[in-house]
Amino acid sequence: MGIPDIIIAVDGYSSTGKSTFAKLVAREFGFTYLDSGAMYRGVTLFAMENGMIAPDGSIDNDELKNAIGRLELHFGADGLYMGERRIEAEIRTLEVSSHVSPVSAIAFVRNWVDERLHAFSEGGRVIMDGRDIGTTVFPNAELKVFMVADPQVRAQRRYDEMVAKGETPSLEDVMKNLQERDYIDSHRDVSPLRQPEDAFVMDNTHMTLHEEVVWILGVMQGKFGLLEAPALSC
Ligand code: C5P
Repeated sequence: MGIPDIIIAVDGYSSTGKSTFAKLVAREFGFTYLDSGAMYRGVTLFAMENGMIAPDGSIDNDELKNAIGRLELHFGADGLYMGERRIEAEIRTLEVSSHVSPVSAIAFVRNWVDERLHAFSEGGRVIMDGRDIGTTVFPNAELKVFMVADPQVRAQRRYDEMVAKGETPSLEDVMKNLQERDYIDSHRDVSPLRQPEDAFVMDNTHMTLHEEVVWILGVMQGKFGLLEAPALSC
């Protein structure tokens, strides 16, 4: 018997490596990976490009509420699309990162994203990462993981990722952005970031990707009574 057709919810603070981990698990065990943070980033890019975010960072909620109906976001094999346009690079900039947490604290934005996440997951066998997947989006997910890592290590990872993509942020700005997002994400009224009570906690500060996959395989074997482990390719 292999890994059953379950939903795996992966939550945690910013830059704890949730998407890298979730993508790898999806590849190793044949799951569909869905990046809920990308959806919030897509809404934020849409609001920025349509002048709904002022230079001081304030958001025109009414305008966004009126306009969100004409936004179309979906995942292709190579990431997030806004209509026909691939927006993976645009949604990962520090500018989008600096506005995304206030945008994702808005209740109608969360409802809009949640509806789509449910529709995208209809076929099952999904691994989804975010901040409220195990608490709100899929409270009945069969397996929940909560990821944590040392803040310095998180900032350095995000910084290295951005530099590799040709951006030139300062490590200090990256650290500041992570702290701000962690604070807003865990203090907002609607669906704040919380560790689900029934989550398995992974601290990956000193773990390799291979160790992360071995870890979740062990969790799944224990939880679902699997005697044989599928071969890993990582
Ligand atoms: O995961 P990522 O860092 O790309 O997420 C960007 C932002 O989207 C988070 O800082 C958070 O504000 C928001 N988010 C959220 N709920 C989720 C996923 C992301 O509020 N499920």
